[in-house]
Amino acid sequence: MDISKRRGFMYPSFEIYGGVSGFYDYGPLGSRIKKNIEDLIRKYYLVDEQCFEVECPILSPEAVWVASGHVKSFTDLMTKCLKCGEPYRADHLAEKCIERSCEGLTVCELDDIVKEYDIRCPKCNGKLDKIYNYNLMFQTFVGPGKNKEIAYLRPETAQTTYLAFRRLWEFSRKKLPFGVLQIGKSFRNEISPRQGMLRLREFNQAEIQFFIDPDEKDNMDFGKVSEINARLITKEGEECTMSLSEAVESGVIHLQIIAYFLGKSLKLFEDMGINPDALRLRQHKDEERAFYSTDTWDIEYISEVFGNIEIVGISDRTDYDLKAHMGLSKQDMNVNFNGRKFVPHVIEIAYGIDRPFYCVIESSYCEVDNRIFFAFPKDIAPYKVCVFPLVRKDNVLEKAQEVFDLLKKEAIYSFYDYSGSIGKRYARADEIGVPMCVTIDYQTLEDGTVTVRDRDTKEQERVEINKLHAFITKSAE
Ligand SMILES: [Zn+2]
Repeated sequence: MDISKRRGFMYPSFEIYGGVSGFYDYGPLGSRIKKNIEDLIRKYYLVDEQCFEVECPILSPEAVWVASGHVKSFTDLMTKCLKCGEPYRADHLAEKCIERSCEGLTVCELDDIVKEYDIRCPKCNGKLDKIYNYNLMFQTFVGPGKNKEIAYLRPETAQTTYLAFRRLWEFSRKKLPFGVLQIGKSFRNEISPRQGMLRLREFNQAEIQFFIDPDEKDNMDFGKVSEINARLITKEGEECTMSLSEAVESGVIHLQIIAYFLGKSLKLFEDMGINPDALRLRQHKDEERAFYSTDTWDIEYISEVFGNIEIVGISDRTDYDLKAHMGLSKQDMNVNFNGRKFVPHVIEIAYGIDRPFYCVIESSYCEVDNRIFFAFPKDIAPYKVCVFPLVRKDNVLEKAQEVFDLLKKEAIYSFYDYSGSIGKRYARADEIGVPMCVTIDYQTLEDGTVTVRDRDTKEQERVEINKLHAFITKSAE
């Protein structure tokens, strides 16, 4: 996180006013990396899976969140200290004190635990207030005066995708399955976010909703990922390693389609530059799973700093959401398909962006022979190329500018640096993870070749300027 701040990957927002926890800025390099992560997700889902992409408002009227159940139950159990006023998540506090899981307990059950164990404020030992349900949505109003309507910042993108289902169904030419990707911001008014950028109040998501025929949950390209070996932890807490096809055959993963997207996500994360050995699949326990879902799996990254970080959740949301919106809006969500009339089921693949971003940074950080660099994959690196004139005299500077302009014309995101020794410039390029450095020297003026140096191996190669673009893009594969 320290390097992240110094190098311009990301840093706390509103710093000059003391900051607000749960909000981060993506800096000049971070916003490039984030964009590249999002584009890789697009490649996996828009190109490979032929999903559609939509972009819906982040602010939506109350009805949406009444229908989805968020107004009633998107809550955390909260309490506060009667003496010093410090707010706490009651279940987390109780868990710490009695050292067992308090997940899924009701207000009364937790109140009883607080009384029985005499749990107090860890800060001042004051007594705790009654526990209550605290809604995590940010509420605001649309419009002025008497006519204003209650609205909420969305806590997930998924619901906003469902609302236009009729139009998406028409757009799909009335065929199932089809998937819809939405990348955008969501909000949760966390009680006390303490884990830096891992628990944000404003965060970025990429959620894909696959609308399917409930009788056809098995017909995906499972063969493409079925032999991937994965570390799994089941809802009973058992750890094992097996191929995805074994996991489906033995019933550990209930639905083949969920196994398919777990496999696809493992590949995606590896392509992002996340260390595959630090990834494992975790099945939700019965008490943490939404009541309508038959099976839910996360992929977790095991961080050296923060422990386990959930980076994608894949679940069978059934027809629950579409039916809920059908109930309140009175709009028909049924389709006629395969000679039957039904409400489609939804398989959701919910990626965070901010957490995978952190995992990419942690996984890419390398210290080799006193050299510090970020081994970002070429598709993720903020800059593809650095251009250096070896010296700042004769025609070398001019020639370097020419090469730089050529790369700009080819829309290759490059960076020009002429200050300091060549060694220092290499070190600076390494520090921000630039995969290749192109150096222009006296030989360039004679034979039209440049030196291309590889970040990871430090190997150098002479390449003709007119073949530079092909060389860079070939290496990018
Ligand atoms: Zn207190």
